[in-house]
Amino acid sequence: MEQTQQTPHIIIHPSPGMGHLIPLAEFAKRLVLLHDFTVTLVIPIENNFPTESMKLFLIVLPEGIDYIFLPSVNFDDLPHDTRAEARICLLMNRSIPLLRHTFMNITSTNHVVALVVDLFGSEAFEVAREFKVPPYMFFPASAMSLSLLLHLQELDETYDCEFRDIPEPIKLPGCVPFKGIDVMDGAKDKTNVAYKMVLHISTLYSSAEGILINTFGSLENETLKALNQLGKPPIFPVGPLIQLKITSDDSECIKFLNEQPRGSVLFVSFGSGGTLSHSQLLELALGLELSGERFLWVIRSPGDATNATYFEQKIEDPFDFLPNGFLDRTKGLGLVVPSWAPQIQVLSHVSTGGFVTHCGWNSILESIMHGVPLIAWPLYAEQKMNAEMITAGLKIALRPKVDEKFIVDREEVARTVKCLMREEEGNRIRERINELKDAGFMMLNEDGSSTKALSEVANMWKK
Ligand code: UDP
Repeated sequence: MEQTQQTPHIIIHPSPGMGHLIPLAEFAKRLVLLHDFTVTLVIPIENNFPTESMKLFLIVLPEGIDYIFLPSVNFDDLPHDTRAEARICLLMNRSIPLLRHTFMNITSTNHVVALVVDLFGSEAFEVAREFKVPPYMFFPASAMSLSLLLHLQELDETYDCEFRDIPEPIKLPGCVPFKGIDVMDGAKDKTNVAYKMVLHISTLYSSAEGILINTFGSLENETLKALNQLGKPPIFPVGPLIQLKITSDDSECIKFLNEQPRGSVLFVSFGSGGTLSHSQLLELALGLELSGERFLWVIRSPGDATNATYFEQKIEDPFDFLPNGFLDRTKGLGLVVPSWAPQIQVLSHVSTGGFVTHCGWNSILESIMHGVPLIAWPLYAEQKMNAEMITAGLKIALRPKVDEKFIVDREEVARTVKCLMREEEGNRIRERINELKDAGFMMLNEDGSSTKALSEVANMWKK
């Protein structure tokens, strides 16, 4: 689309990670295709970004969406053990002068009508205001996570102790109760600098002109109602926005799936950064083998932190960490691929019948929208809260039990996998997830509530 002075233009400023970039880009596509905006993604980077998967993703964005990488922020001063959330907050914070400069350039040739950031970007609201542009947020996670962040200050004042030491479950308005120990990572440890940063950015949320959120009523109706009762900021549920399937794919994964019976393959993947310990990886492998089920497993080298590969891909060969003879014994029944798989293509394939997920919000939405039942294996960020919602709340997932060493052992892996793929309980989960899938598609119809919510925002921006 030709950009003119008159075409309303949106600046989108995502925080690092494919789990943030993918839904923001999907959101951008809808703005361009349905509402005739043009968009620039202004992407902050540090030493190890952009990753290969990020570059491949950006290169195929449609006309009307431009992207700019901000100059790389230097992190040489950061202690080695800086938590992911602190690192992301700092990246966003240190990118502010760079964003301001880019804002100036973009506004000089475009009619910019809104800035949209994601959950880590609220400090950039000040830049938008300097340019008299209204600041908005696109929240790429659940309404329950948004609720936690909007209530964080209040929880902080209510409890002197760490949230993990609160004896009773935490009950946010309209949400499934969850244990304090399952609170999202950034809010987990009050003594850590990450907590103060997350608390700070969350207190800025209420000054957004609006928060668009990637969820929908049938999934989180009560939570959304409770959020609306807060009065400020206005909340617009525009989900489920997921990646659209790319039609042709001749990857090894798809070739493998093409040869398997319908609904027979369990997809095992822990998002863009999920990492298992070596002993957990061995138990998972042996459990998959023991189950006798077909599987497609995206494997990463083991690490100590559950999000060890979020910022950088490890260079070791992950296959070196598998049990001896595993690949030979499971040949034909299972496929193991390193690092990354075309998840949407996998989930939309008729042979895929289940998904072991780390419970990233995009993965949950993508699975729902393809009617694939879940096994919840949360690792980092807000995933334990998501796991509680999809098991105790929505009942669309099984959750394997961890032993006293915090390991899911091979027998438990095999039991859960067989239950999902073969048993009555698995069938009931499949039915429920298909009902949610239908509800999700209704929201995206021409007169669906998510379509209407997006139009409402788009019309405000055009005025
Ligand atoms: N993804 C993918 N292939 C992979 C791993 C992840 O395409 O091998 C995509 C996945 O489809 C989803 C996103 O990356 O859209 C991950 O987002 P999610 O919220 O599930 O988890 P995060 O990576 O942010 O923890």
